[in-house]
Amino acid sequence: MYMRAAVLEEHAEPLSIEEVDAPEPAPNGAVVDVEACGVCRSDWHGWQGDWGWLGLETQPGQILGHEPAGRVIAVGDDVEQVSEGDHVAVPFNLGDGVCPQCQRGHSNTCENVMPLGFIEEAQGAFAEQLHVPVADHNLVKLPDGVSSVDMAGLGCRFMTSFHALAHRADIGAGDWVAIHGCGGVGLSAVHIADALGGNVVAVDLKDEKLEKAEELGAVETVNAEDVENVPGEVTSITDGGAGIAMDALGIETTSQNSVMSLGTRGQHIQVGLTTQDEQGMITLPSDAMVMSEIEFIGSLGMPPTRYDEIFRMVATGKLEPEAVVSETIGLEDVSDKLESMTDFETVGIPVIDNF
Ligand SMILES: [Zn+2]
Ligand SMILES: [Zn+2]
Repeated sequence: MYMRAAVLEEHAEPLSIEEVDAPEPAPNGAVVDVEACGVCRSDWHGWQGDWGWLGLETQPGQILGHEPAGRVIAVGDDVEQVSEGDHVAVPFNLGDGVCPQCQRGHSNTCENVMPLGFIEEAQGAFAEQLHVPVADHNLVKLPDGVSSVDMAGLGCRFMTSFHALAHRADIGAGDWVAIHGCGGVGLSAVHIADALGGNVVAVDLKDEKLEKAEELGAVETVNAEDVENVPGEVTSITDGGAGIAMDALGIETTSQNSVMSLGTRGQHIQVGLTTQDEQGMITLPSDAMVMSEIEFIGSLGMPPTRYDEIFRMVATGKLEPEAVVSETIGLEDVSDKLESMTDFETVGIPVIDNF
């Protein structure tokens, strides 16, 4: 059996749309018919060949795509919790389910983590079908009545922001939350921080993204193009600095701006991974961080066991993941979409729904 897939042949060159072998389930795996998959800045990094410093430089033949939702169409003999026909999302941080991290509920930091769409053993979802290893552990069943397009961000950006804000940070009622970078993960963070009771200041270079941030609950916005000193502006808006700030992009400027926009005992959450410019190394104002007891917190994806928290808030209308989905596209449009990310032209989460 064959399926259509967008295959990486050369970094930063258009993906090749071709027929490839459809996956068969491993004994502990499942095959998902992909109904929707978000196109994320992490795909752009994979397409560029970034993250060699993390051991994640994509190789020719890789299928990218790590924000899928769809239906299970086949399961391996050893799979017990998942059945054909189940409607599922797939968290990009696939775990083995058995290491100490997974056993303690932290499978997003699994000792044998398999980042979906970045390594050969975890081919991604820019394809009609997707194989998910250790399916009992890694598949997240979606509630009734939600659509795959609406839930596509749950595999990466939406859940990443949720974990960062709901589990890693300590948001109190009315806390000022500064979100630096309003791409898909940043806009998700604006919406989630608002739902968790924060007062959100959104920072970006594009008015269009800041307008979207206002729609999603930001009470203040800062266009970094228009002000001389972004941290100073945030500090003035928040009357002394934000309680929580997030770098939702992953470049040195946004990370530093985020740290420096905090007040005393503020928490910086680093969600964005860096680019070729930084290669994972960012200079930080460590003395000022000591003097003000600033925390620097890394946050990666989310363990599959915590999704019920999101679903309860979706059920009551407090969270609307679909509000961040901006458009639907076809598989053949993916390369153009990645290209437009080079200049930060996409707003919200574009989702492939036509394979
Ligand atoms: Zn992503
Ligand atoms: Zn593990």
